[in-house]
Amino acid sequence: MFRTAYRLPFRLLGIPVHLDVTFLLILPILAWMIGRNVGLYIEVLELPIDPTPLQEGMTPFLLGFIAAIGLFVSILVHELGHCVVARRYGVYVKRIILWVLGGLAQFERLPRQRGAEALIAIAGPITSFLVGALCWILFLSVRANAMLAFVFAYLSYMNVFLAAFNLLPALPLDGGRVLRSLLALRVPYLRATQVSASISKSLAVLMGLLGFVFFNVFFVLIAFFVYMAVSGESQIAAVSEMLQGIYVQDVMTRKVKTVRPDLGVSDLLQRMLEERHLGYPVLDESGEMVGIITLDDVRGLGSSQETRNITANEIMSREISTIKESASAWEAFQKMSRNNFRRLMVVDSNGRLTGILSKTDLIRAIQVRTVGSTLETSGPRVGGSQF
Ligand SMILES: [Zn+2]
Repeated sequence: MFRTAYRLPFRLLGIPVHLDVTFLLILPILAWMIGRNVGLYIEVLELPIDPTPLQEGMTPFLLGFIAAIGLFVSILVHELGHCVVARRYGVYVKRIILWVLGGLAQFERLPRQRGAEALIAIAGPITSFLVGALCWILFLSVRANAMLAFVFAYLSYMNVFLAAFNLLPALPLDGGRVLRSLLALRVPYLRATQVSASISKSLAVLMGLLGFVFFNVFFVLIAFFVYMAVSGESQIAAVSEMLQGIYVQDVMTRKVKTVRPDLGVSDLLQRMLEERHLGYPVLDESGEMVGIITLDDVRGLGSSQETRNITANEIMSREISTIKESASAWEAFQKMSRNNFRRLMVVDSNGRLTGILSKTDLIRAIQVRTVGSTLETSGPRVGGSQF
């Protein structure tokens, strides 16, 4: 997710803000939808505003645009609410991202203190309630100006809606996190995640059904998002829990077989066959790692006569993904999943190759842990997360 996100040229409270491409698509649509329904909003919300001048010419769409921007600023402030509390627990905030379904604040990890997740989660809806109240005060003080009054009244209602919606006890919404964190005070974190995940899935199905009954595309989308995200959320919690306390140096393969850059392709294939290895780091004479060669690199070559003379140096990939021995296994797992790497080169503090860490190494560690996990009880310990 979020492969095409544009970074804004400034930071908020030191946090980078990214706009996902889906956000840039939804913004004009949202502006148009608000603009088209200005009269309807005034009627439904019983606002003491004369709708006639607001519905002339381009005014509705200008209003819609301002209101849509205001809505996303509100979402941004909601995310900042999470970030401020997270920081009090020493959590590093990587970035805030705005996308089609709102905002996400991405954290490096969650704090270990019990109940901390609940406080970070509840901070968002509380912030939105406060912004809603502030917008209402602003609405009351600018009532003479129909345009400004409409925008502030709209934002006031939307912030309250945002707060209420996020309090639904479904993961990964804030309410779901509060629920999980409170459950985790009593049962192991993994079990708390499983319980909140099943509640979330039922809620998502209910929300989706309501969306269909009332022809509300937004509800169907949110339901789908909750359902998909909650499956990922429980898997991530499980993996993070299983890898807790394990470091790269505990599970890496130390006896690394390497090849020289001048090794011919046919010799390389022969070695792969004999040693049952599908990838090798390529080291030059001084022992410096210059690349990685895998079966995939050889596969594209075909079987013509010339390929016999090709050396590893010509087809190896020079992009080397490394990880420090001292890094946590969870960090390695995240690096692999983010970039779709099957293996990482392990280096010591001087950058010298000391081993290889493959997905299989991590899976083996998880399997060993799974066997022992029935004996464990633990507090909320989870890695990278987003709110
Ligand atoms: Zn939130």
